[in-house]
Amino acid sequence: MERYNAYSSHLKKIYGQKVYKLPVNLPVTCPNRLNGTGCSFCGGAGTGFEAMDAEVSVREQLVLTKEKIAKKYKAKKFIAYFQNYTNTFLPLDDFRAYVLEAALVEDIVGISISTRPDCINHAYLDVLQEISKQYGIRITMEYGLQTANYHTLEKINRGHTLAEYIDAVWMTAPYGFEICTHIILNLPGDTMTDVLETAKIVSALPVKIVKLHSLYIPKGSVLYQEYEHGKITLCSKEEYLERLMEFICYVRSDMVIERLFSRVPKEDAGFSNWGASWWKLRDMFNEMMEKKHYIQGCKCNYLNGAALERWRIE
Ligand code: SF4
Repeated sequence: MERYNAYSSHLKKIYGQKVYKLPVNLPVTCPNRLNGTGCSFCGGAGTGFEAMDAEVSVREQLVLTKEKIAKKYKAKKFIAYFQNYTNTFLPLDDFRAYVLEAALVEDIVGISISTRPDCINHAYLDVLQEISKQYGIRITMEYGLQTANYHTLEKINRGHTLAEYIDAVWMTAPYGFEICTHIILNLPGDTMTDVLETAKIVSALPVKIVKLHSLYIPKGSVLYQEYEHGKITLCSKEEYLERLMEFICYVRSDMVIERLFSRVPKEDAGFSNWGASWWKLRDMFNEMMEKKHYIQGCKCNYLNGAALERWRIE
């Protein structure tokens, strides 16, 4: 029994077959890095792992990665995933040209745009809507929030607060695009209370997908310096698994869970997944959910004026 809505099952339901994301890197940067060092956990690769050099054309990146994935998983349909840095930080015309190039690649059925919530406006969303309508492509907007705790957002030098995220979500919703939110459940300073509040905030908004990451600290990042000098404390693996379990129980039952742990290259990792492999952690998590008989959304009892039901004295 699936105790949470896995992303792979969600895609199968929509497209009637297995669909894989193909990462694409663009020659773009991030406004938060231009202003200084960026987020304290930013390693400089802009999270553009597993993808090809940004100098390679979008078409070539997609065609070559598609060939590999199609062979490995016998997949026939794909989503072009613009994943590195802040994709909507590109000038509008460049952005349109890159997305259009992806939409024209055979077997691309969806386009996913990863960006910061303070780097989106109607002009970019209109471009995506136009391409979506013209080529029958589904659009997903992936916004990095990381945590609802705006004190933590400040500490990690995120460069935006909770308000910009809420604004981005409400701006995007009328377009009918799927909205995905990236979240880290073990940022230094965050507690279980922050994890639950983050689950409640995304559930109260028209967000469909949550992509969860365990904190990855690349060597060379500001956070790595702090970690090396004992200036931050990280929660244990057991605590992370507890947080993850509660998060899944608190989010709406119709939401989709894209990922539970980070999957990043070990070479540059100063800290990642407590030295364990993500699939072992996933198995531990599944066992815990099984043992407690928990399913996604089983604690989502706080929306729609819940106190009226809870406290009303007839
Ligand atoms: S938003 Fe992403 S690319 Fe920009 S500084 Fe933060 S982690 Fe790095």
